[in-house]
Amino acid sequence: MTQPTLATLTEDQLADLIAEAAAYRNQPSLRTCLFPGCIKQYDAISHMDGRTPPRPEWSGAGWHILKTSSVFTDGGHLCPLHVPLVTTHMPRLVKTPSGRYTVDCACGWMPPAQRWHRLAATLWQEHLLTANGDLPPAPPTTDPKHRVPLAEHTDATLEELYDRLWDAESDGTEARDVARTSLRAYSQAVPALLGAKTSLEALRQRITLDSRDWTNDKTDAWLWAILVGANCENTDPDHTHNEDCAGDQALWDLGRQHNIPTDQVIRTGHLRWWIANAVNVAQQIEGA
Ligand SMILES: [Zn+2]
Ligand SMILES: [Zn+2]
Ligand SMILES: [Zn+2]
Repeated sequence: MTQPTLATLTEDQLADLIAEAAAYRNQPSLRTCLFPGCIKQYDAISHMDGRTPPRPEWSGAGWHILKTSSVFTDGGHLCPLHVPLVTTHMPRLVKTPSGRYTVDCACGWMPPAQRWHRLAATLWQEHLLTANGDLPPAPPTTDPKHRVPLAEHTDATLEELYDRLWDAESDGTEARDVARTSLRAYSQAVPALLGAKTSLEALRQRITLDSRDWTNDKTDAWLWAILVGANCENTDPDHTHNEDCAGDQALWDLGRQHNIPTDQVIRTGHLRWWIANAVNVAQQIEGA
């Protein structure tokens, strides 16, 4: 076919040209679901413009786009069917101290670090298939059955081992720092808690041995409810409140007796619980 000139161009040819240009301008920009093997697609252009997609099956309704902080640094697209699975396995790209990449999956899974971030993304996709039951569970990479025999080692496999060792060494240093900080906090908190327990128990004993009626005066009643406890505190699972114990209404009765507002009664119950709980934890530490 010869190229028409302006003089020979027919109306039909002109109409064809215009239609072709319009189709080119409006061609769909399809995005595919990131779930391996899923062939669902949507048209990003018409979805973004709020137009009807060229084909109904290209609708973007219910699709989800992962944030750029995920393993898909340019965003990953998820069809409505695969949104729930990926919500449980939301991936976050992590750069290790050795400059390599791994994935922090919402479920706690984390693959060995890789030098190329796309490989970490692919490992995460494999993890999705495993989580979905499409693949059998992966064996641990360092278990004796899957170790590489000496003769099969190459420069690359040795480098991989050294890189992993490097990561493990920096993990070990980090774990030691965490342990040291925790131990320091623990060694300060325990004597403080045991000391507070001794004081609280002395207060409680002083009040219970006093002959006065601690429910008569409003402030006395408040001190008594917090330091001794108005309600029965028997935590034995076989215990049911009876006539010999204080039951679970005594604090409310005290509140009514002194016209204390409900929220302040509830607050007093909390203050009592914190003290009882602190004394209880301190006793467990002493008994350990
Ligand atoms: Zn899908
Ligand atoms: Zn996961
Ligand atoms: Zn009781």
